[in-house]
Amino acid sequence: MYTKMKQFLKSEITSLHDQNLYKHERVIESEQGPEITVSGKQVLNFCANNYLGLSSHPDLVKAAHDEIDKRGFGLSSVRFICGTQDDHLLLEKKMSEFFGADDTILFCSAFDANGAFFEPLFGKEDAIITDSLNHASIIDGIRLSKAQRWIFNHGDMSGTESLDKSTGKTLKGLEKCLQEAKDCRFKVIVTDGVFSMDGDIAKLDEICDLADKYDALVFVDECHASGFMGKTGRGTHEHFNVMDRVDVISTTFGKALGGASGGCLSGKKEIIEWLRNKARPYLFSNTLAPAVVGATLKCLEILTESTTLRDTLMDNTKYFREKMNLLGFDIIPGIHPITPVMFRNFDNSSALAVKFADRMLEEGIYVIAFSFPVVPRKMDRIRVQISAAHSREQIDKCISAFEMIGKELNVIS
Ligand SMILES: *Cc1c(COP(=O)(O)O)cnc(C)c1O
Repeated sequence: MYTKMKQFLKSEITSLHDQNLYKHERVIESEQGPEITVSGKQVLNFCANNYLGLSSHPDLVKAAHDEIDKRGFGLSSVRFICGTQDDHLLLEKKMSEFFGADDTILFCSAFDANGAFFEPLFGKEDAIITDSLNHASIIDGIRLSKAQRWIFNHGDMSGTESLDKSTGKTLKGLEKCLQEAKDCRFKVIVTDGVFSMDGDIAKLDEICDLADKYDALVFVDECHASGFMGKTGRGTHEHFNVMDRVDVISTTFGKALGGASGGCLSGKKEIIEWLRNKARPYLFSNTLAPAVVGATLKCLEILTESTTLRDTLMDNTKYFREKMNLLGFDIIPGIHPITPVMFRNFDNSSALAVKFADRMLEEGIYVIAFSFPVVPRKMDRIRVQISAAHSREQIDKCISAFEMIGKELNVIS
């Protein structure tokens, strides 16, 4: 009997529309890339996680085809029954080498990897200490465990606490949480390597120091970092020169590393071994498809042969950020290809960001506005994401459109 629920959902959906919170999906009629077709129109794409431009790279597409020819379309099994092929093991080995980890376990997504990690390893006697802006999949993963939890104020390493007057909540620094958790059996500090809304980077060196001081493990979600952060693209741990001090990395193959799907946890030998025996999304969900395995192996081969792609990405990012600053846009400073163009100095920031993004699309540039509740109130923005696949000409077109519409809407003078 669906009647009651139908009425309820219809009214909730109407309310989403009324609050401008309804999620509309634009339909792409081409492959993913710097230039895509949306509603029959060619536009330049500046909002994909296609950091290295590998989503439709001919070598990856070919590797996926070849792997289908060699190992078929699917395994129809979980790993421990009859779903492990030689190439699954090879990919795990290659991921471990890439990150400098003992071992790796594959999942069908990073969401699964994060969902799998906490419950088998941390119980009532243990402490999970997590950054307040960590990804939804980490939040859900932690919820599945019985461990005690501390949420530290985003990026705050301090040993102090303060009162947030607007919410009435107590904000604690990481060291403060570690002090409170000191009697727990196991402690783990959990952070995104790069945070997706601001493109800011976790202070992994300081986190590792605190982990040493308080005998805690370090878990880093590298979804927005793997493949290009650090001088050879290994990630945030390479960027901070702490590759041997991080215990577990989770990442996705759905962003820089090819863009299809899949993910993994890489880390200490016994942790990975335990997860192979206990992690529920690993034990009770299908094995990663051979095509994804083949293409991800090719991706790692490309990235270990040369740093050209990550160097191009970083150059493109620097170029875009500098030009936008010169034009007078309010850009959150940083080095990450996530470049937030802020509207916080305007009263009508949320409507303005949406209007701006709509005008950009009319001018052939696909960017997206983010507003509350995805970002804090007044912190409305257009989040531009730069790719190694963008040509200078395409980036210049994007900048010109920002300049023209910025003047038209009185965002810059
Ligand atoms: C994208 C993302 C995920 C989820 O990755 P999937 O492989 O798409 O499930 C998890 N954590 C972070 C920080 C992400 O940005």
